[in-house]
Amino acid sequence: MLRKTKIIATLGPATHGRDMLRQLIERGVDVFRINMSHARHDTVREVVGIIREESAAMDRSVAILVDLQGPSIRTGDLPEPYTLKAGDVVEFRNDDLVAGQPLSTTVNYVGLSEDVSVGDTLLADNGVIHFKVVTKSPGRLVCETLTAGQLGSRRHINLPGVRVNLPSLTKKDLLDIDLAISIQADYVALSFVRDARHVQQLRDLLGEKECSARIVAKIEDQEAVRHLQEIIIAADAVMVARGDLGIEVHIEELPVIQRTILKECARIGRKVIVATHMLESMIENPVPTRAEITDVANAVYEQTDAVMLSGESSVGKHPLECVSVLDRIAKRMEREPGAGFCQSIELKSEKQFTVKAAVVLADSLPESHVLVFTARGIMANYVAHQRPRNSHIFAFTPDPVVQRALHLNRAVTPFHMEFAENPEATIRQAIEHLKSRSFVAAGDPVVILSDVLTGDFDTNSVLLRKV
Ligand code: PEP
Repeated sequence: MLRKTKIIATLGPATHGRDMLRQLIERGVDVFRINMSHARHDTVREVVGIIREESAAMDRSVAILVDLQGPSIRTGDLPEPYTLKAGDVVEFRNDDLVAGQPLSTTVNYVGLSEDVSVGDTLLADNGVIHFKVVTKSPGRLVCETLTAGQLGSRRHINLPGVRVNLPSLTKKDLLDIDLAISIQADYVALSFVRDARHVQQLRDLLGEKECSARIVAKIEDQEAVRHLQEIIIAADAVMVARGDLGIEVHIEELPVIQRTILKECARIGRKVIVATHMLESMIENPVPTRAEITDVANAVYEQTDAVMLSGESSVGKHPLECVSVLDRIAKRMEREPGAGFCQSIELKSEKQFTVKAAVVLADSLPESHVLVFTARGIMANYVAHQRPRNSHIFAFTPDPVVQRALHLNRAVTPFHMEFAENPEATIRQAIEHLKSRSFVAAGDPVVILSDVLTGDFDTNSVLLRKV
């Protein structure tokens, strides 16, 4: 049984070995994510080389997503971590200033004291330690500790609700983008996107470098939630980055925001990824908690394109089991009717209406499959966004880059195939390919869609055939 929901696995020390990478592909990873907050360039080159070799040996393809660190505010180095209790005073200062308090750490963002006001909340170490800003002076914030914790070196700082004036791409991001281009990454994820201009800046930069990587906008703070619609329109895909988002917003808002993002992506027609803490307990344990099972099932029911493993696969003890757990939950939940957010999709072009006709036809034939011939992936995207009820989507493209990118689309199994001069020959070749791999059987109805085949097959047309 083919799974519709795609699985993204973040790479890390737990998953860098050749054997492990091969098994992850065998168990069904569709996209590998490289987290540039941690990854070293030489390791990335080596690991991506192995992924390409192993997937080719299995006659499979997978996509690569390079996740940029973005404008993350971090504390500096401390000789020893500070063990903080409520009431302790801690100073955050620019690194050209000397310490003005016994407990003092530098920060990597010189504009921090300008953006933050007295009374604001500052969170450190994944939102565990809460501080209140009590006084500020140029380049310096003096804060009172509200919740106890250990403040170590290079801890990430969150500022819920504060508009931060950091550029969207740092010097490090620019170097990491060059790496992404050199390894032919299929997706580049932009962290801490605050509005559509940030997505456009990355798009312009990739365009200048003649890079066709698609852009994933990570929604991880209140500013992004405020500009949600424009960000979704500007991006190719959106990630519900619940790690930071869950710190930046009130926790009870997180499920509401997740649902809003999924609904908006369904309405506008964009790919969406639900990420972070899906199977967090499996970093240590071989089985998930009941709550985690239900969380994954809920994302699948909401018909997300993909679910993502972070620490579970990068540093966890059971990466393979995590993939199998996601696979099992997804396949089971996909037998349920699903939330149907795609009913609200806004169709604008003739191509989209043609796809609608094909999806209505496929939905009325319970055992049918959809075959789409696509040059740039647009037609295949349109079919996936309309979420056919039962049918799987087999996409054929002559472009291997398009094939890899389609691994992120819900219910799409993409193949690389040169198109013949004669459309009939192309269709036969595709059906033979599916038959030889037991994806279809004699007698199955297939709904065929294309905007690239010519001849008798008019542009934007739908055919119904039996295998
Ligand atoms: C997240 O915050 O959920 C996320 C995916 O981003 P990162 O892992 O870069 O913090």
